[in-house]
Amino acid sequence: MEYSISTFEKLILTCQNENKEIYEIMQEKEVYDFEISINEVRSKVLRNIQVMKEAISKGLKSSEKSLSGLCGDDCIKLTEKYKKQSALFGNLYEKITTYALATMEENLRMNRIVACPTAGSCGIVPAVIIALSEKFGLTEEQEINALITAGTIGLIISNKVPMAGAVAGCQAECGTASAMSAGACVQIMGGNVKQIINASALALKNLLGLTCDPVGGLVEIPCVKRNVFLAVHAITAAELALADIESKIPPDQIVDAMLQTGQLMSPLLKETSLGGLAATKNGINIIDKNCIK
Ligand code: SF4
Repeated sequence: MEYSISTFEKLILTCQNENKEIYEIMQEKEVYDFEISINEVRSKVLRNIQVMKEAISKGLKSSEKSLSGLCGDDCIKLTEKYKKQSALFGNLYEKITTYALATMEENLRMNRIVACPTAGSCGIVPAVIIALSEKFGLTEEQEINALITAGTIGLIISNKVPMAGAVAGCQAECGTASAMSAGACVQIMGGNVKQIINASALALKNLLGLTCDPVGGLVEIPCVKRNVFLAVHAITAAELALADIESKIPPDQIVDAMLQTGQLMSPLLKETSLGGLAATKNGINIIDKNCIK
């Protein structure tokens, strides 16, 4: 089917008119656009889910540092902490936080991850979907539906805002990933289309202006830990949305504000590593001390 879902408003209208879920509309659109079968669409998504699970599984067991030596052992540290003392928010929180770290640390070891939407934000969507899947015993089909929903949200944001810290700051990378995850979470919890989109809106609008200031130009500091925070942030947005607490600014207008914010942001804060955290005394010292050029 030829669907026009370039904005959140159009997506909601299409779902209402067709009486379908977001993932149904999106997979039918893929079938039309790429002339492939629904099975092929879903198989590709399943492959991504498998890669996400492999990255989590490997990352949970590894303490190998990145080439820079700056990061790589936080997941093991957090896992050990939870063994001695459970997380205040319980087992789901433990899974989300360790899975986000596991995936990001696999990324900095140059191992395989799914960029969703980017490598620097690759820990957020898998942490939320896989942790929820394990907690609620989701089927493979439900995991696929959740990831297609997340992908649809990312696609719509990317229609206006390039998914790159160098263009729009980290709001475009980790911000988008958090919005994608919030929507996927609501989908998994049985929320309706409006609630799914609203969750994304709530997540996104609280991350506008997030700078991209990686220390030494490496996707490590603050990127690795930021993935953990924004995976948890997605769950907060989902909880509010499931309670029908709505964003007073419509989702498409939030994306417009995100674009404008990115344009107004100084180039020093857009992946040049000339400002923000990268330009702090310690940020510079870390790089000098480790002879990172
Ligand atoms: S701080 Fe920059 S490099 Fe790091 S994840 Fe965010 S956008 Fe990517």
